[in-house]
Amino acid sequence: MTEGDYRHLYVVMEHEEGKLIPVSLEMLGEARRLMDNFNKKYSSEEKVVAIVLGHNVRKICEELIHYGADDVIYADSPELEYVRNLTYTKVIGQIARDKDLARKVSEEYSKKFKKPRYMFFAADSVGRHLSSTVLVELESGLASDINKLVVDDIEVTHQHKTNGKATKYNKILEMYRPDFSGFLWTLILCLDNKNPSIEREYHPQACSIIPGVFEPLEYDASRKGEIIEYHPKLEPQDLKVKILSRNIVKSEIDFGRYKVIVSFGRGIKESPEENIKLIEELAKELDAAIGVSLPISKKPYSVTERIKSTYMIPDRVIGTSGRKVAPLLYVAVGISGAMQHIAGIKESDVVVAINPDENAPIKDECDVFIKGRMEDVIPKLIEELRRQQPKIRA
Ligand SMILES: Cc1cc2nc3c(=O)[nH]c(=O)nc-3n(C[C@H](O)[C@H](O)[C@H](O)COP(=O)(O)OP(=O)(O)OC[C@H]3O[C@@H](n4cnc5c(N)ncnc54)[C@H](O)[C@@H]3O)c2cc1C
Repeated sequence: MTEGDYRHLYVVMEHEEGKLIPVSLEMLGEARRLMDNFNKKYSSEEKVVAIVLGHNVRKICEELIHYGADDVIYADSPELEYVRNLTYTKVIGQIARDKDLARKVSEEYSKKFKKPRYMFFAADSVGRHLSSTVLVELESGLASDINKLVVDDIEVTHQHKTNGKATKYNKILEMYRPDFSGFLWTLILCLDNKNPSIEREYHPQACSIIPGVFEPLEYDASRKGEIIEYHPKLEPQDLKVKILSRNIVKSEIDFGRYKVIVSFGRGIKESPEENIKLIEELAKELDAAIGVSLPISKKPYSVTERIKSTYMIPDRVIGTSGRKVAPLLYVAVGISGAMQHIAGIKESDVVVAINPDENAPIKDECDVFIKGRMEDVIPKLIEELRRQQPKIRA
């Protein structure tokens, strides 16, 4: 590999009904900050390139320049109107390898261009699937659900990658993800094999990014950039999955209608049935909707059929794998505060957590932390709410 083989940061955008979804602009904001630092540090001019697939998407492309992209590469076709993994994987793979496109992005860096240096996708239901298949197509690795990124030069000693020798790697994307409910950061690196017996390149260095983590840039109408059209080369076998009809299924749990949401997590474990009934009582006093953390939707405890089918369902999950909510008051009961859950409650006005563990990450994410077991705290809260109700109504 030479320095010129891999260039730029390509960011795969998502949009719905002609509008960019928030995580697209968040990824672009982080890409801009990362590449501005990169170019300063390495005295280079590598670019942030947004990729847009769809139908009638030209207007979206212009917006992306104002939100931080240097260039936008788009493919516009009725065949691309809705995401089909097979088709999208093929087109993004073509775009990532296309030398002619790379020349339009930057003449200077195009001579030896093989693939992008870095790639970002959204860690949502579309991006998680797409990132994995695109990276197979591009023969590299993928880190999923990332919430912190750093570019650095590092030294690595690894039995296989470096044959046990301390070896320098430059411009490595350090990809961090929260694990064990946010108690541990895992650092993921996508490194070339430099061991002579198994030498192999792994580029792009790619990841999917948790929605709600990074800040988008302010819209800046004076920002300039290139919009480049790409005409994909599709064959009948790339289009064999047909969309015959498409319905957006509205959830029956309408969190948006409620000013208060009470959610519960695995902290109910000591007596799940009784604790969920306590939560129902609290929610009734607060006129609140009830949400859950992801593990609860997997039905981890033995409870009655009514409780199971009402609460232990994906529709109630809050977070990156479920819903984003924005109530006036969010009460997190027995929830540790993993990054994936927090991403779903960021827009709440006030967050109250009930948890006996002062070291739980939720403590840093809430406005009021009530240290205690839900079994002890909730009855007191209910009692107090009942005492206060007549005064509030008066
Ligand atoms: C790709 C991916 C996507 C994910 N998406 C989501 C998502 O969308 N939403 C989501 O929620 N998670 C998601 N997760 C899972 C997430 O990482 C956490 O594992 C999960 O949120 C933890 O759930 P929890 O807080 O209920 O359980 P735990 O982490 O086990 O926390 C339970 C908490 O209860 C407290 N507790 C114990 N006893 C009591 C008591 N008596 N009273 C009160 N509190 C008590 C404990 O101190 C602890 O803090 C995702 C994970 C991955 C890998």
